[in-house]
Amino acid sequence: MLITTEMQVESALFFETPREIYTRVFRNLKPRTKPPEITVTFCKFANPDSFARYDSGRIEIRMSDLLEGAPAPVMEALAYILLGKLLRRPVPASYAHRYRLYLNRHDVRRSIHLIRQIRGRKFISGPQGKHFNLEERFEELNLRHFNGLMARPLLGWSRRASRTMLGHYDPSHNAIIISKLLDDPKVPQVVLDYVLFHEMLHLRYPAQTRGARRSVHTAEFRQAERAFPGIQEAKAFLKAL
Ligand SMILES: [Zn+2]
Repeated sequence: MLITTEMQVESALFFETPREIYTRVFRNLKPRTKPPEITVTFCKFANPDSFARYDSGRIEIRMSDLLEGAPAPVMEALAYILLGKLLRRPVPASYAHRYRLYLNRHDVRRSIHLIRQIRGRKFISGPQGKHFNLEERFEELNLRHFNGLMARPLLGWSRRASRTMLGHYDPSHNAIIISKLLDDPKVPQVVLDYVLFHEMLHLRYPAQTRGARRSVHTAEFRQAERAFPGIQEAKAFLKAL
């Protein structure tokens, strides 16, 4: 029954252009207001970001060209999200859900990664820092925790000494990037090892997607992390940092 309804929705939307979808959604959200002129432009963003704004009486929609080939129901969901925000109208959560579901689709995630790779200007320095060598730390952890079997990704220090992101595994570049903040003689080695080990676990236990929910730190991931000797000391140090 539910499937039939979805299919009917889809075929009804099939022949609408993005501009027509936005105009129809505007009418649904603000039935007593005549819809202004709406322009929809696809831009080459590095991320699937989209914006809606008023510009001299018109509504301007700027969407990532990653969404240019999105199915009409996804386009409609995003129209509700963007116009709902712009017009300050409540929008059913099902639209946000539908949109997220699409972004989590395997092929969509893959093309987002590819685009980021091409457009994103990610800086990856070498593994040798001023104080620590990430390659050396990686191989020691690899031997200790993974029987030396983990293939080494690109390893680098971040350009800026970020406090909010101490480590980061980037699957599109197959790279682990560690905050330059930790490349410091005042930082105990066990602390750097813990942050690096955490990122290595991301290689070992990839994120799981169930419907619209994405679990990055799975139960297995957490269990493996707890086995790290010195985890308490490392966490206490990072908390004080
Ligand atoms: Zn993590």
